[in-house]
Amino acid sequence: MTELKPCPFCKCDYLSVHVYRSGVSFILCENPECGAKIELDMHSCSDTPTGRLIDCLVERWNRRVSE
Ligand SMILES: [Zn+2]
Repeated sequence: MTELKPCPFCKCDYLSVHVYRSGVSFILCENPECGAKIELDMHSCSDTPTGRLIDCLVERWNRRVSE
């Protein structure tokens, strides 16, 4: 699995990853003062293996971090 970078907003690494085979998966910053979140709609890539979905989600988060 691709490594998850710290939150781009509050710089913490208190992040939770929620992956659901059907529906919307997301990564959430658990800092109550921050609450940054990115979502990925699994319906758009339903035939992708679960491990790949997690990578896809993490990549999306990391891309946001580097922007
Ligand atoms: Zn944060």
